Amino acid sequence: MLTARRTIEVREIPRPSPGEGQVLLRVCYCGVCGSDIHMFQQGLPAPAILGHEFSGVIVELGPGVSGWEPGEAATAYPGTPCGQCRWCLRGEIQLCDEIIAKGYGLGSRPGAMAEYVLVDASSLRRTPPGLEVRSAPLVEPLGVVIHAVRTSRVRPGDRAVVLGCGTIGLLTVAVLERTGAGAVYATDPVAAKRSRALELGARQAYDPNGLSPFIFHDLMEGLGPDVVFECVGIPETLVAAINYVRKAGQVVVLGVGMEPTTLLPMVWNFKELEIKGSYGCAEEYDMALEWLAKGKIQAQRIITREFALEQAQEAFELMAGPNEEGKVLIRPHP
Ligand SMILES: [Zn+2]
Ligand SMILES: [Zn+2]
Repeated sequence: MLTARRTIEVREIPRPSPGEGQVLLRVCYCGVCGSDIHMFQQGLPAPAILGHEFSGVIVELGPGVSGWEPGEAATAYPGTPCGQCRWCLRGEIQLCDEIIAKGYGLGSRPGAMAEYVLVDASSLRRTPPGLEVRSAPLVEPLGVVIHAVRTSRVRPGDRAVVLGCGTIGLLTVAVLERTGAGAVYATDPVAAKRSRALELGARQAYDPNGLSPFIFHDLMEGLGPDVVFECVGIPETLVAAINYVRKAGQVVVLGVGMEPTTLLPMVWNFKELEIKGSYGCAEEYDMALEWLAKGKIQAQRIITREFALEQAQEAFELMAGPNEEGKVLIRPHP
């Protein structure tokens, strides 16, 4: 439970019991997400049980739930859309106010960094054959990345640059590779992260420190990449993204920037570029389930470490500082 800035406490609470339409899962694994780290650094919302990327086994069904059995392995879309707003009706459930305000592990509803988590049956998803419970926490971040790539302007043959090789950046490299990008280049200051990007299909991965601002122009006939995916969310990478992208290109912002950034607007005019945000995922969650089950993404190369629930503080401190990790998992049961 996040209780204050940079403080995770292990607290004993009663095992929740499922209400109408709810299902209780025994949590197998829960991923530590960049947004969890932001909440850890801010100490908000607190107190809160974090964790929205998880896999588990059904232990109890609430009243009115049918089609599920205790013992089934499952994962869950990280919230329940209202089903009635403009965004839900358009299929853009990631923009539904309920998803943003009432997602699991984001403050108002307890998340899965716990032995048990309550989820709405409507957000439950069966773990398909071929998808291991240890890989299933990657479904949510992979859905987020598939959403970003699908809603971007990337077309087969396009050249892309991915800034940042954490979980989101790595998955972006892998998804671009899978969807026929002509060439994918990556940057990250950490050598271990760069080598993971190479394993997942990047043609080259560079240390951004001391890198020429013209590197990608030089590599691409003086043009630069068609699309740049910004997967860090700090001022330096946002500035680099608009500098690297070709004229009339697109910058997709996946990184969650929490500090004000100074950009030179003239560059946007001059290059006629587009800066596009991307948040969460909708039907891409189910695509991600299939992709992982079919082995289209090498999950085992992205997951680098696991921690017991009692070591959550240690896991968060590790991820909040300079580190060499990909996806880190919390494993609540020994
Ligand atoms: Zn996440
Ligand atoms: Zn809605």
